[in-house]
Amino acid sequence: MSKWLLTVGLVVVAWLLWSRLRGNARAARHKAAPPRVAPPRAMVRCHVCGAQLDAALARRDGPLYTCAEHQSPPAHEGDTPRP
Ligand SMILES: [Zn+2]
Repeated sequence: MSKWLLTVGLVVVAWLLWSRLRGNARAARHKAAPPRVAPPRAMVRCHVCGAQLDAALARRDGPLYTCAEHQSPPAHEGDTPRP
C-alpha cells in the first residue's frame, strides 16, 4: 500500500514541477523583448547651407555649426596663406 502511495505522490510532484516549468516557459515567451531602438542623436543645422546633420559630425564654431562641406581646413602654425 505504501508503495502505491509513494508512486502516486511522486507522479503528483513530477506533474506539478512539469506544469510549473511549462508555465514559466509560456510566460517567458509572452514577455517579448522590447524592440531595439537606437538612442536619439542631436541634430544641428549648418549655418552656411542650412543642412541638418549629426552634431557628432558637425564642426562647432562658437554657437554655430558647419557641415563637412563648409568646414575650412584647420590652420596650422607655420602655414602661409595661399594667394
Ligand atoms: Zn553646410
